[in-house]
Amino acid sequence: MDTTLNHKQKLYMDMSYADYFNVKARGLSKKVENLVQCDNFCAYDIDESNLIRREILQFKNQYPNTHNVLYINIPFCATRCGYCPYFVEIYNKSRVCEYLDALELEIDRIKDTPYVKSTEFECLYFGGGTPSMLSPSEIKRLLTKVFSSFSFTADGEFTFESNPATLTEQKILMLKEIEINRVSLGIQTFNDRILKEMDCAHNSDKARLVINQLLNIGISVNADMMFGYQSQSEDDIVRDIMELKSIENLNQVTYFPLRIIDNTELEKYNYGKEKITIEQHNKKLLKLDKLVDTNMTNIGYIREESPIFYFNKNSHKHRYISTSARVLGLGAGGGTLIDYGESINHSDIEEYISNLKKNGYGTKSAAFLTKEQAFERHILYSIVYLNRSLSDFKDVINSNFKDYYNVSADDKIEKVISDMKKLKFIYEDDNGKLIITKRMWNVLGQIQIGVPSII
Ligand code: SF4
Repeated sequence: MDTTLNHKQKLYMDMSYADYFNVKARGLSKKVENLVQCDNFCAYDIDESNLIRREILQFKNQYPNTHNVLYINIPFCATRCGYCPYFVEIYNKSRVCEYLDALELEIDRIKDTPYVKSTEFECLYFGGGTPSMLSPSEIKRLLTKVFSSFSFTADGEFTFESNPATLTEQKILMLKEIEINRVSLGIQTFNDRILKEMDCAHNSDKARLVINQLLNIGISVNADMMFGYQSQSEDDIVRDIMELKSIENLNQVTYFPLRIIDNTELEKYNYGKEKITIEQHNKKLLKLDKLVDTNMTNIGYIREESPIFYFNKNSHKHRYISTSARVLGLGAGGGTLIDYGESINHSDIEEYISNLKKNGYGTKSAAFLTKEQAFERHILYSIVYLNRSLSDFKDVINSNFKDYYNVSADDKIEKVISDMKKLKFIYEDDNGKLIITKRMWNVLGQIQIGVPSII
């Protein structure tokens, strides 16, 4: 691999993963300021990135049967929710057709690479946006292409992120027929006043109906909920959790804190009138996090990750830990995190489509990684996303690491913690608990728009 690397790429490969991550954020967004000392080089170059994206798929997968996820981004929604920070467009039939053409081009470009040929994916995840916005014929077209181009394990988990407003009985039957076995349902809250204020396309009755229809037909459901909205009271949150309790056989719940990212529309939307600072908002989120946690535990759910992922103790865990799986990402904003490197596609749909038409790739940035960096990446994301309140937190990271790589993490965990502390990504509180800093959340917010958030 060395012969194909230029000076800049070699420079990345000499860095710790935390340092590289820091530089990556700088390259992806000019909005995150004061992040990196290495001002003398720009993190990414588009032509190089296309080349690197191609190169990292030229290696066979060393772990062909474990923790492999195929992520496909469908960046279309029925309406634009007021708090949404993602790159999405309102559904439009001809635009979706153009997008599916581009996606098929991307699939054709990579389906015969050694990496794809040697991989059996355990998880197929359609994220967005709102994949369930697609019409039955569009869904069939997409699934036919995907199933004929990639291999999946016999017990694969196939998830469709969905909005209740877009799921008709006919569409649910079709999802079942094409073997979708899990739906992550964007409920947000059962409070109709708040749903209306947030410009959501569904109401609570529709959410209840769809949950029942999905569970009755044998499709697992993750209830995707949210807390921290400006006018949502603590009582409103507790009422939502009581409603979750009443849903028999619900499998998992994700509780997202409505985090404010510097300089986003979201900041203006949420605080334009009240002038509450981000620090005040973050304090409020910490308090609400505890409220959610206590109440979710009381109703029998077990917390696995942060942002707050719970599974019903009577059901099964979700397969993956957000971003520490080996992910091959396709579509606008699709992020790839594999053992040889990583890449991210253009989030802007127009740029993604035009780049694919021009040169066969929609890649915005990419880099090779050494094996050690890939190990450190796994640990860094685990530190951010696993439940850091657990007393055996580091043991959990170590055990997941062994499961992924068949080797022990040894002193790598302490190294990554030390690297992250140096970059002011984390600090230890008086009780020795690791706390993620605002700086880190800002970096993650920039990096993860469009990158797999597999829930
Ligand atoms: S459904 Fe999700 S992705 Fe779509 S506009 Fe609302 S928040 Fe954004």
